[in-house]
Amino acid sequence: MCYHQITTINKKIMSTLRFKAVEEAYKKKAAPVAAPASLTSEYYGKYVFNGEQMAKYLSKATLKALSAIIEQGETLELELANQVAAGMKTWAIERGATHYTHWFQPLTDTTAEKHDSFIEYGGAPGSPVIEEFSGKLLAQAEPDASSFPSGGIRSTFEARGYTAWDPSSPAFLVDDTLCIPTIFISYTGESLDYKAPLLKALKAVDKAAVDVCHYFDKSVKKVYSYLGWEQEYFLIDDGLYANRPDLMLTGRTLLGRESSKDQQLEDHYFGSIPTRVQAYMKDIEFEGYKYGIPLKTRHNEVAPNQFELAPIFGETNLSVDQNLLIMSIMKKVARRHGFRMLLHEKPFAGINGSGKHNNWSLGTDTGVGLFTPGKTPTENLQFITFVVNTLVAIWKYNALMKASIMTAQNAHRLGANEAPPAIVSVFLGAQITKVLDEIEKSKKIAAINIAAKKKLSLGIGSIPEVFLDNTDRNRTSPFAFTGNRFEFRAVGSSANCGSGMITLNAIVAAQLKEFKAAVDAKIKGGAKKEDAIFEVLQDYIKKSKPIRFEGNGYSEEWKEEAAKRKLDCETSVPLIIDANTSKEAVALFESVGVLTEKELESRNEVKWETYTKKIQIEARVLGDLVLNHIIPVATKYQSMLLDNVYKLTQVYPEAKAAELGALDKGLIEEIAERIDIIKRRVDEMIEARKKANKIDSERAKAIAYHDKVLPHFDTIRYHVDKLELIVDDELWPLPKYRELLFVR
Ligand code: ADP
Ligand code: MG
Repeated sequence: MCYHQITTINKKIMSTLRFKAVEEAYKKKAAPVAAPASLTSEYYGKYVFNGEQMAKYLSKATLKALSAIIEQGETLELELANQVAAGMKTWAIERGATHYTHWFQPLTDTTAEKHDSFIEYGGAPGSPVIEEFSGKLLAQAEPDASSFPSGGIRSTFEARGYTAWDPSSPAFLVDDTLCIPTIFISYTGESLDYKAPLLKALKAVDKAAVDVCHYFDKSVKKVYSYLGWEQEYFLIDDGLYANRPDLMLTGRTLLGRESSKDQQLEDHYFGSIPTRVQAYMKDIEFEGYKYGIPLKTRHNEVAPNQFELAPIFGETNLSVDQNLLIMSIMKKVARRHGFRMLLHEKPFAGINGSGKHNNWSLGTDTGVGLFTPGKTPTENLQFITFVVNTLVAIWKYNALMKASIMTAQNAHRLGANEAPPAIVSVFLGAQITKVLDEIEKSKKIAAINIAAKKKLSLGIGSIPEVFLDNTDRNRTSPFAFTGNRFEFRAVGSSANCGSGMITLNAIVAAQLKEFKAAVDAKIKGGAKKEDAIFEVLQDYIKKSKPIRFEGNGYSEEWKEEAAKRKLDCETSVPLIIDANTSKEAVALFESVGVLTEKELESRNEVKWETYTKKIQIEARVLGDLVLNHIIPVATKYQSMLLDNVYKLTQVYPEAKAAELGALDKGLIEEIAERIDIIKRRVDEMIEARKKANKIDSERAKAIAYHDKVLPHFDTIRYHVDKLELIVDDELWPLPKYRELLFVR
């Protein structure tokens, strides 16, 4: 067989899959979207058993009793549950439901569900079946829960875990299944999920904030916590995805040279939305609206093939559920459009990763936003009270805030000069900073004057004046005040928002309680209420200064400065997680009744175990890819080059052959050297993994994976990416960055 024949056959075998996939991807057209001719408002919420539907399917008395339970967070009696279940069943069956499930949020990345049919025998076994759904089935279930992460709270022989209905989040219909949002707890009552502690944190912040509101307005009965998330994601053609085992198994590319063009020209952000993507987005909105998810904003993000979706904010518990639901809808709908949707925080090296900004605020049942500047001095004192208490809470618990959102995936994003740094600080903007500075300096209570939005006249004839927002933008801040809310930007795109929201609402609740105690003590000592509030705030403003940072969070100087200010600067994920079980953290979570020490410890066990498993899987996939895909191809190309060099000596005189073969010889040696390094590093990585696997303690094991296994990834990748540049494009088996990121 001659050289020419060998190379042609090689090319045919090696490149078929990749090139076929690219060719197919280019041919794909936007799929038609089944969007209706009717107005959005006509199908909005049609799959949700919401207030309107409840009014139709439940008796007045049942509805009233249920509303009271939701408002006051009381327990659901079986009789009431039976009545609700009956109405819910009829509603669901009329819409084609045959099954129901308790839909819950274990400590994994996704929700869990186990479907059961409504059918029961009407009488003795074998008798005709009827549709049955009792209050007991609605209120509580016992999934075989032994294989959900529990951090040792439930060992396998005591595998019982219960799911219990959360009436404050409405049931909904997915296809033929009635989904009932539930909490997930162990036999002995410990939380095994995100929802149960979140509900407790929301209750705590409600109570603490109402008490503080009473200084300003006695009529406030309830304070709601609000959340508006901004979901970032990538879309990749599904044929290309199928050719990337790393994307399939780990959610991110472990190898791949950066595309010569990526986001340098900043031409993707807010750019016109590609047709196939727009069809996908429309479809998501159509589906989302049916679930009553108020999707509002869609746009291109900074990186190529990266996009964002955001709803109108809502009550935190519901908003968290809606985010989880839309994430699963987004995954499913992507398949209809020939895409895969990536939620990983850093699917591609060298370009922006994905986050999920959590816009958070508190608001009263009287319609006042507690982070919205007011019109009167009293309103403004209340506003400043809530801003300053939040500031103090973040200052005290900055390490805990970071721990609440840190994962193996998010670690690639935070501190990578595109996302917030791995140090939590607060950005307030010039105006609020000025107000706090004035309060700090003034001798006695001054009327707090917060200028209304500044007008900016553009001096361009027909264009109206623009109102300046009360804050400037600082994209580098992990926790920023943005006019009427705080924006927690460090949250990862794949995260359950519940995790960060549990911590944020819990620390603010605890801080508000402390504030109330301090003010009450001063009042008891004879101070006037306003003076007492003012003095405590003054003290807080002084104390919490280290957390305030208005500068560039990406700079090296900030890292040094933050360390001087004693902010948490840890970057190793397993050690960041330690903050959850510090003495202060345990005292905090117990003081507001959100999590016990036992729960905190077991949740950390889960976090360490998850971290280890993620790195372990990545290390395995990396090893397999390198040994099965990369080295064989590089070797094949090397032997083609060798063949060429040899043939040159057969045709040309020695000196000429050496001259003509010089380039190939250089490449042959480079390939040999790189393969050698890669092979050695893969062996070392495998050894490090074996050693780490023998460690018993989950914490020590996670640390070993972080310190000893992970560092090999970069070196291996560096050399593989260099090979990608050398090896004949037609031989390269994995779709390249330029294909993954620019085919749409
Ligand atoms: P950005 O300018 O930060 O990209 P977006 O419009 O994309 O803003 O998203 C802002 C999010 O903040 C939306 O979900 C919006 O509903 C939410 N939001 C606005 N006001 C509040 C508030 N007071 N409390 C909580 N969330 C809010
Ligand atoms: Mg935002």
